Amino acid sequence: MSEVLTHATIKDGWFREISDELWPGQAMTLKVNQILHVEKSKYQDVLVFESSNYGNVLVLDGVIQCTERDEFAYQEMITHLAMFNHPNPKRVLVIGGGDGGVLREIVKHDCVEEAVLCDIDEAVIRVSKKYLPSLAVGLEHPKAKVYVEDGFKFLAQYKNHFDVIITDSSDPEGPAESLFQKPYFELLRDALTEDGVITTQAENIWLHMPLIKDLKKACSEVFPVAHYAYTTIPTYPSGQIGFMVCSKDPKRDVSKPIRVTEPTKEREIFRYYNAAIHEASFVLPTWARSFLNE
Ligand code: SAM
Repeated sequence: MSEVLTHATIKDGWFREISDELWPGQAMTLKVNQILHVEKSKYQDVLVFESSNYGNVLVLDGVIQCTERDEFAYQEMITHLAMFNHPNPKRVLVIGGGDGGVLREIVKHDCVEEAVLCDIDEAVIRVSKKYLPSLAVGLEHPKAKVYVEDGFKFLAQYKNHFDVIITDSSDPEGPAESLFQKPYFELLRDALTEDGVITTQAENIWLHMPLIKDLKKACSEVFPVAHYAYTTIPTYPSGQIGFMVCSKDPKRDVSKPIRVTEPTKEREIFRYYNAAIHEASFVLPTWARSFLNE
């Protein structure tokens, strides 16, 4: 008889995403059909379950990383906000992103010659290949090269090399802590070519405004252009998550795509991203805009 898997976050058939530090007093819950994988990797607690309405779900240290149903809202925006802000991205790097979804999006740009990914945890890559094949397809692409290392150390080896770097990290508690600090942004800047662009995961306006303000300040000290943009997504806390989008080119308006896809092709290859939402994603509600700019 096969072993019946259990996990501390799943009770009475419901997964509960509770964190007193990251989102006190609220929790996302998802109904579980079955638990598929439970593991303590070298860096984090890894859980995969099949949900009743969101497909398979990857959870690290009790925090939802992606669900098969809504992942495209995140992967497309974190990727294409940067990719459409570079005139001709050939060499692209992903730090984190071990599920492969961002790589899948990067290789939609024919100009890309090399898509490199560095995730700290081989367990994420392994379980994504097994349980999240529609994302992990990016890991197997002929242009993709995958490394298992700490992203901070990996980045320090490169100078003036990548046209675009996307940091698809988990939250700042745990192995991703260093990826939210100024020394990391300095490494990003140095690893980029002259008119290089980055996006990094930059959390939620309803929950993390002081952190976003600090991130924006740190990015603005390193890059001449640094703005917050966001996507909507039901299974991230409070249904919204943002990105810092930064350019080394002081003249670049990152809110405007500089390469445009013909509308029919745009509808064929993207489900969330389009040129209009690129611009709209930089528009903040009044209170959030005031908080960030004051
Ligand atoms: N989209 C997700 C979100 O916002 O919740 C993030 C998904 S992705 C799977 C996050 C990845 O970052 C994980 O696979 C984790 O192993 C990786 N990660 C965390 N810290 C890292 C580090 N220092 N270097 C490289 N990868 C890291």
